[in-house]
Amino acid sequence: MADDSQSAHPKRRFRTQLTHVGRRPKTEHGFVNPPLLRGSTVLYPTVADRKRLGGMRGKQVLTYGLGGSQTHWALEDLMAEVEGGTHCAVVSSGLAAVTTPLLAYLSAGDHCLMPDSVYGPARNFCDGFLTRFGVETTYYDPTIDEAGIARLMRPNTKVVYTESPGSHTFEVQDVPAIARAAHAGGAKVLMDNTWGIHFFQPFAHGVDVSIQAATKYPAGHSDILIGTITVAAEDDWERIHTTVRSLGQYASPDDCWLTLRGMRTMGVRLQTQMDAGIEIAHWLSKRPEVLQVLHPALPGAPGHALWKRDFTGACSLFGVVFKPDYAVEASHAFAEALELFGIGASWGGYESLALPTTGFVTRTAGSGSFAGPLVRLHIGLEDPEDIKADLERGLAALRAYKG
Ligand SMILES: *Cc1c(COP(=O)(O)O)cnc(C)c1O
Repeated sequence: MADDSQSAHPKRRFRTQLTHVGRRPKTEHGFVNPPLLRGSTVLYPTVADRKRLGGMRGKQVLTYGLGGSQTHWALEDLMAEVEGGTHCAVVSSGLAAVTTPLLAYLSAGDHCLMPDSVYGPARNFCDGFLTRFGVETTYYDPTIDEAGIARLMRPNTKVVYTESPGSHTFEVQDVPAIARAAHAGGAKVLMDNTWGIHFFQPFAHGVDVSIQAATKYPAGHSDILIGTITVAAEDDWERIHTTVRSLGQYASPDDCWLTLRGMRTMGVRLQTQMDAGIEIAHWLSKRPEVLQVLHPALPGAPGHALWKRDFTGACSLFGVVFKPDYAVEASHAFAEALELFGIGASWGGYESLALPTTGFVTRTAGSGSFAGPLVRLHIGLEDPEDIKADLERGLAALRAYKG
């Protein structure tokens, strides 16, 4: 049995991790999956036990519902292993996994560096909430190098945030270089690793805290909101779990249980969606209507060299830029003509999505502008031939659009 004694094994590969980590049949009545435990109050045999267990916060010990239970820990153990970390905290959404570590490391008077291509609600949090609490944010070009970060560092810069590739515009960041400059200046490196999942190993590339919107491929079925925060160092874990508990961050055990179920099949979903995504990206790059495909795994695409150096694979989310002959409204006609693709936010489910984004994304550091209209595509588990036929329909609508 792989489960109960996993620590005795050398580090396993991704799909084996997904299949075996977070399962303890020997202590769980022999069932393959861990139980779904629901609870707030935990009863202690004695007052002395209460005192002793209460001092074990941040450990996998049942003390109170907010500290999680076996259902949470199974998911946390699996995500920590997948990302190459040591501890993971599951929280209520991907956005909560973004905001919680920012709150953990930033105080009034501090400065934060954010990539211009950061996930939009993270930008809103910095500009609104953090500004209100006396934290200043500077946005930097996501393709910045080590010297560039070094120039932006101030004595009070406590967080250098990264997200690679960037939301909507898919800039691949030189995370190790950014991390070197950040650490030299005494700052923590946070990374939104939702796109990279396990294809990018954050802690092997200088990241201190890795953020996942597990809402995406881990949950995998477009029906759960959940986030994870993973760390490798004990002092970071102390900071993160204390902040998670102080904020009352919590994810429903039902959602953890379903996310864990989603992750058991994530390896095959990711492989199938990666292959289809690259195939469709390549197909689109040959189309006369297309100016550029923003898929880091596509040779010749922006960021491809860095992607090849640092990533071992790709998810199925990428951008397509149409030629400037087409109006932004034509890209809307494209999306609306598609039958297999829904128009919607989020991604990582089993179904395809198309989201026109020109005019919807904010950039203030001069990055991410394209000559033609931009559409973000998420390739689902449909047959790639049917997806291409659907895209043909969309491209016909793009060409036919008369303003
Ligand atoms: C979706 C997303 C989030 C937020 O996740 P939610 O679960 O929707 O709150 C954070 N970062 C990135 C890159 C995302 O795509």
